[in-house]
Amino acid sequence: MSTEHLSFDSRAVHAGRGDLAALGLHVPPIDLSSTYPLPSVDEGGQAYELMAGGGTPAPGQTAVYQRMWSPGVARFEESLAALEGAESAVAFASGMAALTATLLSCVRAGRPHVVAVRPLYGGTDHVLATGMLGTRVTWAAADGVADAIEADTGLVVVESPANPTLDLVDLRALCDQAGEVPVLVDNTFATPVLQRPLEHGASIVLHSVTKFLAGHGDVLGGAVACSEETAQRIRSVRAITGAIMHPLSAYLSHRGLQTLPVRVRAQQDTAQVVANWLVDVEEVERVYYPGVEGGDPAGLVGTQMSGPGAVVSVDLGSFELAAQVAQGVRMITHAVSLGGVDSLVEHPAALTHRVVADDVKPHPGVLRLSIGLESPEDIIADLEQALAGG
Ligand SMILES: *Cc1c(COP(=O)(O)O)cnc(C)c1O
Repeated sequence: MSTEHLSFDSRAVHAGRGDLAALGLHVPPIDLSSTYPLPSVDEGGQAYELMAGGGTPAPGQTAVYQRMWSPGVARFEESLAALEGAESAVAFASGMAALTATLLSCVRAGRPHVVAVRPLYGGTDHVLATGMLGTRVTWAAADGVADAIEADTGLVVVESPANPTLDLVDLRALCDQAGEVPVLVDNTFATPVLQRPLEHGASIVLHSVTKFLAGHGDVLGGAVACSEETAQRIRSVRAITGAIMHPLSAYLSHRGLQTLPVRVRAQQDTAQVVANWLVDVEEVERVYYPGVEGGDPAGLVGTQMSGPGAVVSVDLGSFELAAQVAQGVRMITHAVSLGGVDSLVEHPAALTHRVVADDVKPHPGVLRLSIGLESPEDIIADLEQALAGG
């Protein structure tokens, strides 16, 4: 069954499962095969060549080896593509592996120059700043992308909302500036529930599947969603360099997508309550959240994004108080990562954004909160006692 005619929420439940009933199954089988029987040397060789070039095996054709293709991973990819409104998706062992393969596909095509708009996730900033993959970066403001593009620019990289200060970028305006150059939007914070960047002119959507998509803190994964033509180039890099998602992670991520819409909306509702409370807390210098006054200067919530999301950052004015709160929470976990069913708090300048250059690093008083499915009352009470010093 194709899920194209279904609503977003119904697609989240059913996409990538269309063939199960005919197989006599209700949930996807987990195929852990690292290798597959070859019908003949010739047929095996042809399949190998197809997949090394980024193709996918026809039904019944051998997958040769898990690094080339894996059926459970393909199910998750089909489901994510349906939610992002993309032709295809390609899944990886982590978000950083997905970014790495995308950047390598640009280098391989002879377009190693990247224009990047800060703030970005610290790991993305790091891989671009070091140039370790053979890329060359120009940092640009969101309205300075057109001027930064060069003859060999292969990609524009942007995050909205951005990690960790929830800055929003007008994607349509940015994509117009980029012209023919593909724009990669890291959609990890918004998820396709709240924002679908391909509808606003982007070419590639990147996810750390680790976060909201898998959503339960038990998967490390990444993915891109894009046209089939782009997917082939990125899949070829994946097959050759080896960072495909594990089948068990694919099963859990595919299951995670089924509850993604309800999780994101419920976590967002609670995040709004917590953000509203934080605005009035005496020690709080600033709340970074698109759902509070000043958090969405360009008016993108309600147009580009259907809601402000479930990550809230807060400036407590000093490193000492930020550290006290991060270390003082009891129900909330002091840990990096975000997007799971349980709330987490972390200090970006010390952890996720430690490697970012000093002049663009988050302030030492900033904490990033990922709001989970606990009640807002319990989250607020925990923050209150941590602020008071336990
Ligand atoms: C976590 C994160 C990444 C990296 O993903 P991993 O799965 O940790 O490799 C990329 N972008 C954003 C916005 C993230 O939060």
